[in-house]
Amino acid sequence: MICPICSHSELKNYLLKDNFNFFQCLNCRFILVDVSGINLSDYYNNPNYLHDKVGKGYVDYEADKAPMRLVYIDLLKKVESYQSGGRLLDLGAASGYFLDVASQNGYSAEGIELNPSAVKEGRERGRKIKLADILKNGYPDDSFDVVTAFDFFEHLPQDKLKDYILTIKKLLGKNGVLAIITVNTASWWAKIFGRRWHTFLPPEHISYFSDKNIRLFLENSGFEVLEIKTLHKRFSLQYVFNFLYRWQGIFLWLSIARFLEKYSHLGRLAIKLPLGDNMVVLARKKYD
Ligand SMILES: [Zn+2]
Repeated sequence: MICPICSHSELKNYLLKDNFNFFQCLNCRFILVDVSGINLSDYYNNPNYLHDKVGKGYVDYEADKAPMRLVYIDLLKKVESYQSGGRLLDLGAASGYFLDVASQNGYSAEGIELNPSAVKEGRERGRKIKLADILKNGYPDDSFDVVTAFDFFEHLPQDKLKDYILTIKKLLGKNGVLAIITVNTASWWAKIFGRRWHTFLPPEHISYFSDKNIRLFLENSGFEVLEIKTLHKRFSLQYVFNFLYRWQGIFLWLSIARFLEKYSHLGRLAIKLPLGDNMVVLARKKYD
């Protein structure tokens, strides 16, 4: 096995979880999950992806995402300081909650998403979302000024990472900006929990970057990294307890989540989780 980021050939066994093998590159510390022999598309056709009471999806996507609105607005302002164009494509858009935020902030925004039920739901809400894999997107080159990839890169299989980033590069126009939110293996939270970090969720999460190796990855793919910052995500209280239950399997957390569901004004309270284990990466397409 060869590291998809730095081409180093020494990877060590890192973790075995839910019958999936994790490996870590001894040079750049990139962590990947071996998904050979797995049909990943099976995991993206789940019709209950946005309304999943027991599994790994969202309980109620729109409500769960609402606390992120302020984070998204801040991010869009930052992007605007680098790129004033208004054509925006959101990768892995789900039902497109973010597209509304982008539209309300001056962008002509559309999304692309693999999950048919998520696309259907988003379209019913009047959002423009294409049902397709990004690698077969059908857009002409230079179609967008901004591409956003939130909670996206961790889902990509390592043998396709290069194809995805080069496809994104083609979609961007002159000085186009790519905005990424992904988990950071070099964060304190990740270091404290080590192999018990809650974000190790195969086969959904299979590529894990640090701030250092994502910079390397982007620079080697024809991007100039503009900034990398720690991100504290915002969640609904109900989402937090569901997430704790899924992580630790402690029934009390599920009971609290169910309680909050009944008293939705409580469950919908937005709280900021100061985990700092996500990062925002802004990068600009370089013209070669
Ligand atoms: Zn490496």
